[in-house]
Amino acid sequence: MKKHIQHPIFNLVSAAAEELKIDAYVIGGFVRDIILERPCKDIDVVAIGSGIELAKAVAKKIGKRTKVTVFKNFGTAMLIYKGYEVEFVGARKESYDRGSRKPIVEDGTLEDDQNRRDFTINALAISLNKNNFGELLDPFGGLKDIETKTLKTPLGPDITYSDDPLRMMRAIRFASQLNFTIDDASLESIAKNKKRIDIVSKERIIVELNKIIMSTKPSIGFEILFNTGLLEIIFPALDNLKGVEIVNGKGHKDNFYHTIEVLDNICPNTNSLWLRWAAIMHDIAKPATKRFEKGHGWTFHGHEDKGARMVPKLFKELKLPLDHKMKYVQKLVLLHLRPIALVKDIVSDSAVRRLLFEAGEDIDDLMTLCNADITSKNQTKVKRFKENFALVKIKLKEIEEKDQLRNWQPPITGELIMETFNLKPCREIGTIKDAIREAILEGDIDNSDKAAFELMIAKGKELGLTTNKKH
Ligand code: ATP
Repeated sequence: MKKHIQHPIFNLVSAAAEELKIDAYVIGGFVRDIILERPCKDIDVVAIGSGIELAKAVAKKIGKRTKVTVFKNFGTAMLIYKGYEVEFVGARKESYDRGSRKPIVEDGTLEDDQNRRDFTINALAISLNKNNFGELLDPFGGLKDIETKTLKTPLGPDITYSDDPLRMMRAIRFASQLNFTIDDASLESIAKNKKRIDIVSKERIIVELNKIIMSTKPSIGFEILFNTGLLEIIFPALDNLKGVEIVNGKGHKDNFYHTIEVLDNICPNTNSLWLRWAAIMHDIAKPATKRFEKGHGWTFHGHEDKGARMVPKLFKELKLPLDHKMKYVQKLVLLHLRPIALVKDIVSDSAVRRLLFEAGEDIDDLMTLCNADITSKNQTKVKRFKENFALVKIKLKEIEEKDQLRNWQPPITGELIMETFNLKPCREIGTIKDAIREAILEGDIDNSDKAAFELMIAKGKELGLTTNKKH
């Protein structure tokens, strides 16, 4: 392990601990990540004694200007050194009360501290003490579990998950992030204790859910959330997409599996959490719009409209932001069928122009979402669809270059119309503006000031308006 703790911070902690005559260890995520060769910038140091005192002593060794941030309530302290955020805490023993996930904390030994950790892979510690500097302390076989890619709790799973049910979300998050398997005893226990998630705040749940969404293959996490029954509690609308109904021998896609497949599909093409959320939400209204039409089969008419309308409420329930990020997801849900529709129809310039106008600067993200949405068991079908989709992309590019419709605003403003026809605010202004926008989008006139102005005059005349003398 010595090679992993070459950074000067470890020697500084070691020397400071020796001076204070206490033991100190690196513990938790940092140890796990160096073994996994994952980059990690957070170091947790546990002191068998006061973590705050140790932090102060280390800061003194680094130099006067090193700032120690003390969190008195938690008994922890933090400092930043050469790109690392180092957190110091005294070893603790925890006991839990059933109504809360906040433990009663008392001072403890290293073993007590390792016992309170969530998973064996997170309970590994490396000694920073002179006599055994660099030695790995692995009381629960965490190293072996890293090798076999297994998530196990150090104590009995029922105790671990019931004490702090957030650990259920963390287990699933690590499974998804690290592509690890949760051991059977844990899975059973999570399913059994799922209701305990109610004592965890929604804010904490969403942090873990977002980490699942940001993993390379989020479907791993979502499948476990579904299978353990947690999804039904934390995100019922997504859970509700599961299942296939069959009428007269005709079934529809399982929309839950389809959705998580779309989410996986989009991941290599984006690191945007919100584009990934758009993938999650794109078919969210399918259960609410599902119909079986005789002679036709299953339809989900209007699911894009209804889905977009559902987004604000769902974001609110999930404690996601209600600002422009929500609006962005809403817009992509609303428009998610449009590029596909262009594949099906003969691609007319006006349809492409209209889509460019409505999607604005989000057109590329919309295209990424739509491309990910093309899923089918029939690979020939997928191939044909993707080829046609590529044609739509080319067409989009051509029209965009020609007409510059991204972030486009129609050239005639309400003020100009009022001034030209000597008007006060009235309905005719809207009528003229709409007519100009439609004419440009339909390709009836050029996207130029001159053509738009001429149309404004013509439309005004049609409406019986007279122009100012100037015009
Ligand atoms: P990440 O940095 O990816 O969020 P992490 O596990 O590396 O995950 P933290 O969440 O900061 O980082 O946790 C640091 C360590 O604290 C963990 O490795 C684990 O040992 C312990 N820990 C954190 N949360 C819990 C918990 N709810 N129950 C038990 N131990 C926990």
